Amino acid sequence: MKDISIYIHIPFCDHKCIYCDFYSLITLENQELFLDALQREISYYASDYSPGRNVKTIFFGGGTPSLMSVSYINQILENIKSHFSVNPNVEITLETNPGTVDNSKLQGFKDIGINRLSIGIQSFHQDDLEFLTRIHNRKTAIDTVNNAAAIGFNDISIDLIFNLPKQTKKKWTENLYEALSLPITHISTYSLILERGTILNKLVLDGKIKIGDNDFDADLYDSTIKILTKNRFVQYEVSNFCKPGFESKHNLNYWKHGDYLSFGTASHSFVNSKRWWNYSSLKHYIKEVFENGNATRGFEILSDKQKLEEYVMLAFRSNGIDLNEMFSIFGNSWYKNNFEKLSGLIKNGFLSRSNGILKLTSKGYSVCDEIVLQLI
Ligand code: SF4
Repeated sequence: MKDISIYIHIPFCDHKCIYCDFYSLITLENQELFLDALQREISYYASDYSPGRNVKTIFFGGGTPSLMSVSYINQILENIKSHFSVNPNVEITLETNPGTVDNSKLQGFKDIGINRLSIGIQSFHQDDLEFLTRIHNRKTAIDTVNNAAAIGFNDISIDLIFNLPKQTKKKWTENLYEALSLPITHISTYSLILERGTILNKLVLDGKIKIGDNDFDADLYDSTIKILTKNRFVQYEVSNFCKPGFESKHNLNYWKHGDYLSFGTASHSFVNSKRWWNYSSLKHYIKEVFENGNATRGFEILSDKQKLEEYVMLAFRSNGIDLNEMFSIFGNSWYKNNFEKLSGLIKNGFLSRSNGILKLTSKGYSVCDEIVLQLI
């Protein structure tokens, strides 16, 4: 049996955050129609992709999946289980926003089999949260993590954003230490990205708000690596840290170029070197699924060159290139052609080689994109 991952994109949010460019809707008006379309889409793809495959991870992302009722999420899970063979140890993650769950809802999610929460905290500072127009406050963020742990969730990830306007290094490191004091197993840290079309981007372009320059950003990233790795967290991807053994299996599958099916608006799937993506707009998505069973907007089949380049990029962003594995899939010409560059990166402390694995060092992670560009 081959492993496969499943991603479900829920496009609903409580409101639109100032920095967000994801497709999301702030009304639940069409939630039942969306659920119907989603169930049809799952059964459409199951006929082709279920035989011979075992679902290893399921991830509910968005949007704000935790805004939906427990029964809503459960209906999707039951549908997946009725169409696919699901591994008994499946990792099931729910993106959860503080402010959308109380204890009974958390308990409900646990009871239907959600065993990992990814909590969108972003900052523990009240002024940052207000600036980002998040619906939660510092207390709700901390309570959500503690309550989830008390209920029995033992795999809890949180997201934090650095280089926010007016965020000093002190404020950022306070966020990290606050995170470390909580019962969590995983932290994802992202530098604030200015996305076109967002209110935040306009405020910056109009000169009403300033964010730190690249050097400041790099300094915050550097201190993140130092603080987290000194406190029992392992960096296993450019933006991701975990306690040993608590890597996100779902994300590891992406980074290892594994197969995944994604359902819902704007979702991307990748199976057997073919990538396809859905319409973003809910209206369009529902119409297409009701008419055709799927809502595919476009697709590509990766060439051998594209596959190699993606393999190199994803491996460098995460756990490194296993040379034996790489040679067995792609042969050794990439390695031979880049031997001198790789040796230089090792000599200058950006890359390490141990037991046949080429892996970026902490210094290398901070310039990962530049290194990958040199090598592909
Ligand atoms: S809750 Fe998340 S997905 Fe929704 S608008 Fe805010 S940042 Fe975007």
